[in-house]
Formats: sequence, C-alpha cells, structure tokens
Amino acid sequence: MSKAREAKAAKIRQLMETEGDAVNTGTSGFNQGRYESVQTLDDYEGLKSEARAIKEDAIERLPELIDELRETVEENGGTLYIADDADDANRYIREVCKDKDAERVVKSKSMTSEEIEVNEALEHAGTEVIETDLGEWVLQVADEAPSHIVAPAIHKSRDAIADLFNETFDPDEPLETAEELTMFAREQLGELIEDADVGMTGANFITADTGTIALVTSEGNARKTAVVPDTHVAVAGVEKLIPTVEDLQPFVELIGKSGTGQDITSYISLLTPPVESPTVDFDDPDTPITDGETDRDYHLVLIDNGRMTMRDDDQLRETLYCIRCSACSNVCANFQHVGGHAFGGETYSGGIGTGWEAGVEGLDSAAEFNDLCTGCSRCTTACPVEIDIPWINTVVRDRVNRGDVSELDWLVEGLTPDEEPGGVSFQKRFFGNFETAAKVGSFFAPVSNWVAQSSISRNLMERFLGIDARRELPAFQRETLVEWFDARGSRVENPTRTAVLYPDVYTNHVQVERGKAAVRALEALDVEVVVPDVRSSGRAPLSQGMISTAEDHAHDVYAGLSEYIDAGHDIVVIEPSDLAMFRGEYEKFLPEQSFERIADSSYEVMEYVFGLLENGADADALSVVDGDEVAYHSHCQQRTLGLEGYTEAVLSDLGFDVATSDVECCGMAGSFGYKSEYYELSMDVGSELKSQFQTDETRDRTVVASGTSCLEQLDSLLSRPTQHPVQLVAPSR
Ligand code: SF4
Repeated sequence: MSKAREAKAAKIRQLMETEGDAVNTGTSGFNQGRYESVQTLDDYEGLKSEARAIKEDAIERLPELIDELRETVEENGGTLYIADDADDANRYIREVCKDKDAERVVKSKSMTSEEIEVNEALEHAGTEVIETDLGEWVLQVADEAPSHIVAPAIHKSRDAIADLFNETFDPDEPLETAEELTMFAREQLGELIEDADVGMTGANFITADTGTIALVTSEGNARKTAVVPDTHVAVAGVEKLIPTVEDLQPFVELIGKSGTGQDITSYISLLTPPVESPTVDFDDPDTPITDGETDRDYHLVLIDNGRMTMRDDDQLRETLYCIRCSACSNVCANFQHVGGHAFGGETYSGGIGTGWEAGVEGLDSAAEFNDLCTGCSRCTTACPVEIDIPWINTVVRDRVNRGDVSELDWLVEGLTPDEEPGGVSFQKRFFGNFETAAKVGSFFAPVSNWVAQSSISRNLMERFLGIDARRELPAFQRETLVEWFDARGSRVENPTRTAVLYPDVYTNHVQVERGKAAVRALEALDVEVVVPDVRSSGRAPLSQGMISTAEDHAHDVYAGLSEYIDAGHDIVVIEPSDLAMFRGEYEKFLPEQSFERIADSSYEVMEYVFGLLENGADADALSVVDGDEVAYHSHCQQRTLGLEGYTEAVLSDLGFDVATSDVECCGMAGSFGYKSEYYELSMDVGSELKSQFQTDETRDRTVVASGTSCLEQLDSLLSRPTQHPVQLVAPSR
C-alpha cells in the first residue's frame, strides 16, 4: 500500500476505534428520531418542496434581498456589515469589541463563526471568547474541533466528558451523570454570560422584510447570549437570508425533525434586534436597569467568503440551499462510523461538507474527505431542501481530479478509453474503466482469473491501483450474458410484452447466472426478451468523478436502447445503481426528451415482475414455495428510488418468509470496498448488516440481495452463499 493510502487508512482506523462508537450511537439516535418524527407531518414531501422553492428564490434574488435587509436592519436601529471574507469579518468584529472595551465575548453555536475562526482572531486581540453551547464548550475545554455540524461533540461519550470536566475543574464531588454534567456547565456558563460585554450568535435564518433572525437550538444559552449583554453581534453566511417571516414556517417544521429527530427543537427564538427587553443587573435581577429603553447595540455581519461565487456556479449553487440540519451526516453509513474528524474538512463535515468546503475553503480541503461519499444516495431523500448531495460530491471529485495533473498523464491518456483530460489517479481510472477490464477478463477467462488471483498480481494491484489484497476479486465468465443469449435466442411463442434485459457490466461478465435467471423469469411470465450488446451505464466512471466519461456512456446507452424503446420494448434492469442512472443522473447528460424516454421505459427487474403479476401473469409459472425463509438486503439506491417493497412483495406472494435488513448501506458501495485505504471502514460498516443476518431469527435463512456490491460484501461477511432475488423466483430451466 502506498504511504498516502496507509496514512489515510491509519487515520480512519484510529477514528473508528476512538470516536466511532460515540458517533454511531449519536447519529443512529438522530436517524431513528427523524424516521419517526417526519411521519407526524401530513405532507412531508410537499413541505420539502416548499422549503426548496423558498431557498431557490432567495438565492436567485440574493442581491436584492441584501439591499432590503440593509434598510430593515437600519430602520430597526442596527448595523448591517457585508464581509468579503473571514479576515474582513474578523476585522469588523474586533473593531466592535474594541469600541466596547470588551474583555469577554460569549458566543452561541455557529458554524459560520467556526469558518472564519473568530475565536482565534478575538483572542489574538486580547478578548476572551467563551462558547456557551454545551457541546462547543466541551470542545473548547478539550481544545478539539467539532465533528458534526449540529452536535459538535458527538464524538465524545458521556464518560469522556465527565473525565474531562473532573480533570479540568476538579469539582468538590466528581461529576458522573448527564444531568450532573449539564447542571455544572449551566452554572459555569451562566456566570460567564452575566459578566460578558458582547454576545455573539449565529442565525439559522434571517428575514429580509423585518430583519428577524431565527435561532434554532436545543439549549437556552443562545437566547441568553443574544439578550443578556448589551451588544449583540450576529454572524451568518449571506445564504441565510429568506424573503419574509412567513417563509420561516416550513423550515421551522423541518429543521429539527430532519436533523436530530425532534418534533420541534427545544428553542426556536425569533429575535428582531436590537431587542427591546431590558438588560438585567444580576445583583438585583428584579429591577430592570434600563426600564426597557433600547440602548442595545446590534451588528449583523453577513459573510460572503466564496458564497457569491458559489451562487454563480451552476453546480455548487445548490449547496447554498443547505439549512445545516445534519440529516445528510446522520444518514451516511460512512459518517456513522468515522464522524466529522475524518468525514470533514477545515470547518464543515458530512455529505454536504464537500460542497461547503469546496466553496468557502477551496478544493484542497474538500479533496481530503470527498472520496468518503460513496454516492449511495441515502442522503437525498433525507435532505429537507432536496439537495442532490451525491451530485455535488461527484462534481467536486471531478474538479479535484482535473486539478491534480501528474507527469504521467500523457501516458495514461493514451492507454485508457475514457474521456478524461488528465489528473485522474491510476486507481480511479481503473475502476472508472471497469468495463474494459471486464471485457478483457471475460475474453481471456479462466486464465485472466488465475493470473489476477496470483500473489504477484495482487501485490502489484495493491501497490499501483490501491486494490486491497484482502478483498476477493470478481471472477469473469468466459461466456457473457449477451453471448449466451445470442446463441440461445428467445423462447416465448405468444408474448404479452417485449423487453430488453439491460446487460449491466457485472451481469454480463461476472454474475451471468442472475442474468440467465432474469431471462427465464421474464419468459415464464410471457415476456419476449432481447439482450442487446449495449455499453455500460457510466455508473463506474461517475463514481470516480469522471463525469465526461459517464456522459459519453449515457449517450451510447441511449443510442443502443432507443430503437427498442421506439419499438415499444420495456427496459428491465437488474443492477439498481444502473437503474438509478437511467432515472436520475441521465437527466444531467441527455436531452430532456431522451432522458424521459429512457427513464419512463425502465424498470428494476423485481419491480417489473411485480407489475406483470399484478396485471394477470401466472405466478405459478415462477418458483412458488411454501414458507422458505430468506434474509433480504435491498440496495441503497434501490431504497432511495422507493423500490425495495416490490422485491419483498413478490417474494412474499410466492410463499417466501422475508426478513429485510434496515441498514443504510452494506459498506461495499461499488469500488469503495476494494480500495485499500477504505477496506477496513467498508468492513466496519458491513458489520451491521452481518450482525442483522446472524441473529437467531436470520442465521439460517437464505441470503438474497439486489445489488452487485451488496452481494460481494455479503459474500465476504458471511459463510453462506448469496444470490439475487430473481434467482430465487426464476424457474430452473
Ligand atoms: S444538505 Fe440537506 S440534509 Fe445536509 S445539512 Fe444541508 S439541509 Fe441538511
């Protein structure tokens, strides 16, 4: 393994060991809360679309809204400052503190203030800064960085926090329980807030019409921070602006439910500073010292720091719709196992962290963790503003590839069949061009398989391609599915429908038996099947960030299938990640009409079988059983498309007793689990699936899974054979 890969693997291993359990416990709890909480909404999808439309409109009209906000803030008696970048913002905030002779600033949780590193800037100028959010305060005491955008200390267990407090503060009685820790922090922070000269908050939303800021927190200290000191500085990115107070409604409904699974977060404060509530003399708290007069000072610092450039960037603009709820972190299988200290950049972490880091810090920071997004797409349905987070990650990956030009690119470019101009690593080129390797592998099989398995080959593959020697390689079949079908032909005499069985690269070259089973199952249900030689979908290059190559595949696939679509054929797809291309990413690559034709004609194979049975096909023509027990794992992209229920329904209707896993991802995720720097993380993620299939209830069940990656991972995790569900239901001949 190269030194860089070994260093990355070591960092991931260390974080899995030290922080993984705490992050997993926290994110799993948030996730479970989200599942339950969003169910209480009458129209969850409608609310998400409403929130999305507000953000789209706000970012479109941002300059105009900033002008409107300036007027309202000034009318309210405050000051609006637009900071170009972190230095500009810090200079302004330092001046405010200097004018107030501020010795202490108390600060509530704000990722934007982390982004500009205002603590360091103020402390350098001699002003003490105290974090008042419990999690942030824990990290300030521990001198650590946040690992989650909502729960910054999620990586620390209660025991670790108790040890930290006991060692640092040496309380009379050692602190132990969560309640004791919280009470201790509340007392300490309460006193610090009372004596502070300036209170600094973030803002989850700012309304242009009234200058209202919305603070969404799970603790009360943000509100105290805003209203106790007589000077309030609110720091936020310019993207936090929305047009009106009424526009807050869908966000207030969604943000807590999406992030931590709370029906409504404990504190939603709507403040229109400078607030009119009187400042308080804590020695005489019953007597307002200002009698309600508004002698407060309020500064709203809106930060650009790359955001206006993101707004002009057609691919990164969507990042600005993010409301920082953390759902994309919580739902991400890799994040659940390593947390934001691996899956994060200088400030932002998790799925959308790549977009933020690329926009505000630059590609180098995003490149650090971008490959931890496997494109599983589980975050897309969790995001309350419908951001296509995997696409942003793919775009950033593509840009990182292109910015990383090596001296050997001229050689690689001449040897590889992709469309990439340069910069793509050997490893990514190999996986992105897997179809070429598969063609060669099948052509020379079984010799190619024997050579590939030799220890010399495995060492070379690990050294030059970063393919982990512990991972079993797929065995290529000499006769591809297309060749088998060409020789066999169709065997339906009176078809009710006609369909193309799309020969994805794995079914065509490796898992040929599942392709044959699909043909038999469809023919048993009176479908005339053809298996044309069509190019691979482009999923492989896309997952490596090779967008141009993926687009080239999309055009070739459409060209290969369009004549069949014209002739009324359905397109049946076995591999869920390819179906997700046809129904999803192809929208970005093909003309609208072409995309709609292929998307509307395509079906996942078990979805198609379900439809045939629902429309009168004879189920007895398939393999009907009596209570055979199966353990089923649906593919992540299949679940995102809402299709896992079809497989469960078909299996149940045919007499199988089905137990379905509920893990977000098997951990293999295409090429991810092959890469030596990620192999151990892949297996760690997979361990949850393994344990679900080894309970008393599941350990003797036949294992079926829909995706190639899932099947490969299950083969590694379990000692039982695995198969695609269509192999269970297909007649044997
Ligand atoms: S991208 Fe979506 S899910 Fe992720 S933090 Fe932002 S709003 Fe939440």
